[in-house]
Amino acid sequence: MQTDVLIIGCGIAGATAAIQLARDSLRQITIITRAEEAMDSNSSYAQGGIVGRGPDDTVELLEEDILTAGAGLSYPPAVKLLAKRGPELLHEVLIGQAGLEFDHDEQGNLIMGLEAAHTRRRILHVGDGTGEAIMKGLLRTLSGIANIKLLSKHTVVDLITFPHHAADPLAVYKPLTCHGAYVFDQEMRQVVPILARQTILATGGIGQIFLNTTNPTGARGDGVAMAYRAGANIINAEYVQFHPTALSSTDATKFLISEAIRGEGGILLTPQGKPFMEKYAPEWKDLAPRDIVARGIYSEMVDHGYPYVLLDIASHRPAEYIRERFPHIYAHCLKQNIDITHTPIPVVPAAHYFCGGVQVDLTGRTSIPNLYAVGEVSCTGVHGANRLASTSLLEGLVWGVQAAEDIRAQSPVALLNDHDIPEWNDSGLIYEPDPNLIQGDMHSVRNLMWHYVGLVRSEYRLNRAIRDLRQQWLDIEEFYRKTRLSDGLIGLRNSVQTALIVAYAAHRNRDSRGCHYREDSHPQAKTATSPEASNVKLSGGLQ
Ligand SMILES: Cc1cc2nc3c(=O)[nH]c(=O)nc-3n(C[C@H](O)[C@H](O)[C@H](O)COP(=O)(O)OP(=O)(O)OC[C@H]3O[C@@H](n4cnc5c(N)ncnc54)[C@H](O)[C@@H]3O)c2cc1C
Repeated sequence: MQTDVLIIGCGIAGATAAIQLARDSLRQITIITRAEEAMDSNSSYAQGGIVGRGPDDTVELLEEDILTAGAGLSYPPAVKLLAKRGPELLHEVLIGQAGLEFDHDEQGNLIMGLEAAHTRRRILHVGDGTGEAIMKGLLRTLSGIANIKLLSKHTVVDLITFPHHAADPLAVYKPLTCHGAYVFDQEMRQVVPILARQTILATGGIGQIFLNTTNPTGARGDGVAMAYRAGANIINAEYVQFHPTALSSTDATKFLISEAIRGEGGILLTPQGKPFMEKYAPEWKDLAPRDIVARGIYSEMVDHGYPYVLLDIASHRPAEYIRERFPHIYAHCLKQNIDITHTPIPVVPAAHYFCGGVQVDLTGRTSIPNLYAVGEVSCTGVHGANRLASTSLLEGLVWGVQAAEDIRAQSPVALLNDHDIPEWNDSGLIYEPDPNLIQGDMHSVRNLMWHYVGLVRSEYRLNRAIRDLRQQWLDIEEFYRKTRLSDGLIGLRNSVQTALIVAYAAHRNRDSRGCHYREDSHPQAKTATSPEASNVKLSGGLQ
């Protein structure tokens, strides 16, 4: 199969790139998702909103806020690009092309929300379901465009790169280039090579490599792993942002409990009902910055063997107020038989956002020619060591457009034929993909990452993690080579690979900074979450 541009992933970043590329009607675009429904992505889960430009706001003020949150590691040109183009593209693409209606007042003025560590009101939202509304708008637009083909239930196995996949042995003398991807059709249970002039990775985050995460099941680091295998640069992989409060449940995806609950007076308690945040942040207590609260909860759980801690809003606000202020959280918890107007909420910290990823420039180009990366899978440098709330949807939008514009400005790149690459060889596969084994191994990876490469890291734990993950990686690779493919097996292979990438990066970097915390931190390292180094304040932001 051939296409002009292959886009892997159908969240905000991939869908935006597809719509912009399709403006040239002769260009054929294929966008694929491993999910059954194209709506199933991290983008649809986003609650709080997306950064716009407030009435008393400027490009420079937004830049400053992002740079402060990034704890000295954000890449200034990328931040400038996001702050300048982002709010303009939000109007042009989301409101203009996708027809989105953000919340507005009776006079029709957009309502700008304030979120943690933003110095201005600038967050646009659609209730507390902003991501869902954005994705509905983008997918509606996309489905009406003739030169875009959307394939769901298709999982990319690996990128096709030369010289690695070249049928011609002399290609070994040529530079590394990308020519599409090998794609597993889940219904036909076969691998189809899709050859493309350019390939855009838009596979989202990695939250599922941790036991507790707010990310849906597809966020398992597939893009990071396949880009790494292809030889692309991966950077800042130690910077994984953890959210302090997700609903404790047996679900693989933990429901996010907004920090606004603590902003409105909610107090964290041990399962025995004792407040504990004073121990970790005497001056701020429950209103301490996100990382400190997350680590406080984590320490209580680990030190005392608690499966969760409690978050009590019921004792501090009237029932009617809680129902009105937090309708979504109230309704979700009630479905789990937790009435938050009467009972404290069991919460755990959870992996939330990947600040690192495949290194890209301002146009989304990776270190491999013809391969782009956009959205959470990429590292543009915007987020540095920590992400400012509500900037990730905007980053996906901006780099989706930047990559599309860069491709549109180029003269056509050669398109290969099937005989240029070897056929997918699935002879000699002796096992069926046993879901028990896959789930068991996946659980081990997630468990190990949570305990040894989680919120609080140390040399000793990281050494253990690397040793155990390497063994698991070897076992899983061997199993992979002898087993018929399934989406779960592809995900397992990518998860263990991504887990190793994160663990190695966390091991290499002994300085605590932003969301990477080493308890055996280098003495000179200044942590961005110590009171004097942080201006992170708690506000009503959901994200
Ligand atoms: C609970 C929650 C709340 C959030 N709230 C906010 C918020 O308020 N504001 C904000 O800015 N950000 C928020 N975020 C972060 C934000 O949602 C994500 O960073 C962003 O949506 C990522 O978009 P993306 O397009 O890069 O990836 P995604 O939206 O995750 O899309 C990834 C796509 O890749 C596909 N894919 C993955 N692997 C493969 C494969 N091997 N083959 C084929 N397809 C594949 C998936 O199926 C999916 O279509 C939130 C995240 C979560 C989880």
